[in-house]
Amino acid sequence: MSLLGPAEVRELAERLGVTPTKKLGQNFVIDPNTVRKIVRLAGVEKDDRVIEIGPGLGSLTLGITETGADLTAIEIDHRLAAELPGTVAAMQPEAAGRFRVVRCDALELGREHLSELPGAPEVLVANLPYNVSVPILMHLLELIPELRAGLVMVQAEVGHRIAAGPGSRMYGSPSAKATWYGDWAIAGNVSRRIFWPVPNVDSVLVSYRRREVPLGSEADRVAVFDLVNAAFAHRRKMLRQSLQPVLGDLDRATAVMDAAGVDPTTRAEQLSIQDFLSISRAAAAV
Ligand code: SAM
Repeated sequence: MSLLGPAEVRELAERLGVTPTKKLGQNFVIDPNTVRKIVRLAGVEKDDRVIEIGPGLGSLTLGITETGADLTAIEIDHRLAAELPGTVAAMQPEAAGRFRVVRCDALELGREHLSELPGAPEVLVANLPYNVSVPILMHLLELIPELRAGLVMVQAEVGHRIAAGPGSRMYGSPSAKATWYGDWAIAGNVSRRIFWPVPNVDSVLVSYRRREVPLGSEADRVAVFDLVNAAFAHRRKMLRQSLQPVLGDLDRATAVMDAAGVDPTTRAEQLSIQDFLSISRAAAAV
């Protein structure tokens, strides 16, 4: 058996003296079938360079290394990070040379960490800590443009928000920003029973595929995200109002939006990321 089941997860936690904490979103997967499903949906293949956030005791980690992929895991918890190489070496000795742990807060991961790896990660696979899943995703997408695909497990509500499109009740700033980078879709539901401890929220799997052609430059992205932040800070207001902090007074905001071909009286939740980009480009020209 090369994956962790319920008995192995409890035994490891006991040996390390780990009591899962809510603060760090520690709900460990105890079901090898779910692990294999996640790895399959992520499309991980031999020699892919994968990054996992929050490997915990190693449940998903071992499912990824089992494919022959190269894996870098980012873990904030000292005890868990210290134990992982030993767990991989014991359960999959052949994988030990293509696995490493970086002990840090994923929100503080920088290019300096990545430059020490065999190459930039190209696939993200993670059972994300629920209270910080959106900030972590946004940080990684900005930090690692080399990521071409991903599969993350998140709280159901968060997953539906990320995958929502314009016009939907769930559509918001994370949805719009996520689409800057690529396509997101709900890839499956997950039973609460596959976790230890059992969480009091539902989870979903969300898949990511990077755009073949980037929507714009890094400067475009920064300008567009400023507009998205302003628009969703007051999602009930008309855009000619909510965008004034970025575009200027009412007359200019209206003129820019007219030039962009976007109705100044619509609201944030109606706008696609392409609409935000059109407004940003019009602002540079008007
Ligand atoms: N991947 C493991 C599994 O599926 O069983 C554990 C997933 S658990 C939901 C989340 C993991 O993320 C925990 O191991 C926790 O310590 C770690 N974590 C929490 N906040 C983190 C952060 N800011 N940066 C990196 N890891 C974090």
